[in-house]
Amino acid sequence: MKILVINAGSSSLKYQLFDMNTEEVLAKGLCERIGLDGHIKHSPMVEGKSVYEKDLAMPTHAEAMQAVLDLLVSADYGVIADVSEIDAVGHRVLHGGMEFTKSCVVDDACIDAIKRCIPLGPLHNPANLMGIQACQAVMKDTPQVAVFDTAFHMTMPPKAYMYAIPYEYYENYQIRRYGFHGTSHRYVSARAIEMLGGKPGLKIICCHLGNGSSLSAVVDGKCVDTTMGLTPLAGVPMGTRSGDIDTAVLQFIMNKEGISADEMLDILNKKSGVLALSGVSSDFRDLDDAAAKGNERAQLALDKFIYEVHKYIGAYAAAMGGADAIVFTAGIGENSASLREAIVSGFEYMGAKIDSEKNNVRGKEVDVSADDSKVRILVIPTNEELMIARDTKALTE
Ligand code: AMP
Repeated sequence: MKILVINAGSSSLKYQLFDMNTEEVLAKGLCERIGLDGHIKHSPMVEGKSVYEKDLAMPTHAEAMQAVLDLLVSADYGVIADVSEIDAVGHRVLHGGMEFTKSCVVDDACIDAIKRCIPLGPLHNPANLMGIQACQAVMKDTPQVAVFDTAFHMTMPPKAYMYAIPYEYYENYQIRRYGFHGTSHRYVSARAIEMLGGKPGLKIICCHLGNGSSLSAVVDGKCVDTTMGLTPLAGVPMGTRSGDIDTAVLQFIMNKEGISADEMLDILNKKSGVLALSGVSSDFRDLDDAAAKGNERAQLALDKFIYEVHKYIGAYAAAMGGADAIVFTAGIGENSASLREAIVSGFEYMGAKIDSEKNNVRGKEVDVSADDSKVRILVIPTNEELMIARDTKALTE
């Protein structure tokens, strides 16, 4: 069975084609600047086929999808003989609101529900829908599945997802905590449970630390709390997002600077986080380099990030009554040994101790806890695309 996984942005379309008999990636690629000048890069992962990269005008997502299909079956760059070999398509969709607690086969009702979630994900959901509609246009009879970033977190209890603001905002506008990176949290928590032998009731703290970062608390495979909120702006400080902040600060700054709510939100999303604190970069590798050369603000940005992630791990251990494992994933979590060590340092009192030597790894699935650590500390590379492919297979087989 072959599954194509699509992640559509407003002017981009990422794809991976999986052979689900082996769960291997046959080809992957990226269409960029759709609707502008257009650029495509296609990488077959099988022997004897070469990478294709070219400027190519793609006025809409449908033309981009057609270009992808043409490459997948082409003699020089292709990995399948015919488009009919693709059994189903899985789509990443950002916001499922309260409509979706799990992935679903795309039909008219599903599309209507994704549209109803547009006010909650105004930038991403319309783009994700464009990806779905592009596939419907060029692969009419191929089943499609939507997989939501928010769905895994829908098991949170009301005390975790409700905001303490007038109740009618929840009733009228569905204002509540949703959480994001759900497909990643689901993948790494399930993998952690397997690595721990699959005992029932395991308590896992997942730290998805990348350009965007979020943590989740998972009991028995179900999310009970997560750091992001109605939008991905909440929680720990990120590359360019502020994370949690006293909301009264916003009114103060808006009045002082004479800026609108939209401008303020733009600053919090794109010009804050470790970029703003350091004045150097949103990229943690640049911060490491600058801090090593004595840049105090770069060190402050790192310290703030480490402190807030550390604090949330403590909070989630408290929320769950302990933890069996702390899991690190995504760009920073998978690759930065020094940040992992700094984040878990000081948790000996709750039985979590890292082994510095074992921790000296990058991008590999490995248990980095000390032999006498009661809490396992795990590095698990995330694989959201594989999770989407698995859901798509399960729902369409
Ligand atoms: P992601 O959004 O998951 O792709 O993660 C991107 C982030 O991971 C960027 O801030 C990178 O700087 C960071 N990252 C990647 N490799 C390393 C590394 N070796 N050390 C520190 N940060 C890293």
